[in-house]
Amino acid sequence: MLLNNGPTAASEREAACRWFLAGRVPNAERSTIEELLTGSSRDARTRILGIAGWPAAHSRSPFLFNRLFARYGLDYHYTWFEDSSIETIMRVARDIDAKGLSVTIPFKQDVMVHLDRIDRAAQQIGAVNTVVFSCGIARGFNTDWIGIEKPLAAYRGKRAVLLGAGGVAAAAAFALADLGMEVTILNRTYEKAVQLAERFSCQAKPWDTFDTLEPDLVVNATSLGMQPDTQSPLRAEQLKKEMTVFDLVYTPPLTPLLSAAQKAGCTTIPGTEVFLYQAKDQFRLFFGIDVPDTTIREILS
Ligand code: NAP
Repeated sequence: MLLNNGPTAASEREAACRWFLAGRVPNAERSTIEELLTGSSRDARTRILGIAGWPAAHSRSPFLFNRLFARYGLDYHYTWFEDSSIETIMRVARDIDAKGLSVTIPFKQDVMVHLDRIDRAAQQIGAVNTVVFSCGIARGFNTDWIGIEKPLAAYRGKRAVLLGAGGVAAAAAFALADLGMEVTILNRTYEKAVQLAERFSCQAKPWDTFDTLEPDLVVNATSLGMQPDTQSPLRAEQLKKEMTVFDLVYTPPLTPLLSAAQKAGCTTIPGTEVFLYQAKDQFRLFFGIDVPDTTIREILS
């Protein structure tokens, strides 16, 4: 049985179902998706959400969101939208009347042309990680910056060094600027640091000036230390116990930088905090529910 949206919508749904079942979701997930989209006992009120990425298999969002649905008694299912084309993913999501998407690498910029509205923060950052479908309209948001800002609430007005000038660094620069911090951006490719600094009224300096800066806070937004890489962006002797070190890399949870920072006596914040708070805000955007931090920590532990 197909959804009751007329013959055209029905054939689109069939195609969308075939897309899901063509090896794009884990085996254990296939019968669930088939039942939800075409099963005889399906309930038209059950709606689907998912993580759009290529690859997306690594994401912990399906695990977290499906447990939150069970906890709150919500009739939704969260799955994987894994494909090399964001255009295809957006078409499938619309065809099955999906409730929303989390968006990850490499689609955070490319998804923007497929949206009807984009919120102010996402526009300024230049990336969308959350899509909410409502009344036929696709709205884009960015919750990465909230995931970065929330753990830093006590650092308002402090002096920060941001390492990196790529995609996540833009969300970090937005968050640090929003907290009124004095931000200096260092990046391997200096010109990119200059361009990012101009967008968020920060300073850019060459990478080797770090030792002259004496920051209260260091945020690593480079990919150094992300598995399988084992490098730290800073040497042990550059870390002082007065510094707080926030590593946005979260695989592994204890990165080489965080490990060195702990040995130096620094306060440390792991990148897993970003996932927690960005997911919490996505849930609020999808359902209007403010999940307690403790509930998310308990599910992820
Ligand atoms: P990106 O756009 O590719 O940017 C990568 C950044 O790392 C650039 O600034 C790049 O410098 C720098 N870099 C790469 N290799 C380097 C090296 N060998 N030495 C010095 N700098 C180097 O990637 P992204 O999307 O911003 O992601 C960066 C990291 O953030 C990812 O690895 C991921 O672990 C983490 N992240 C975490 C979360 C979270 O939820 N916690 C979310 C998204 C991303 P150049 O400009 O010189 O190339």
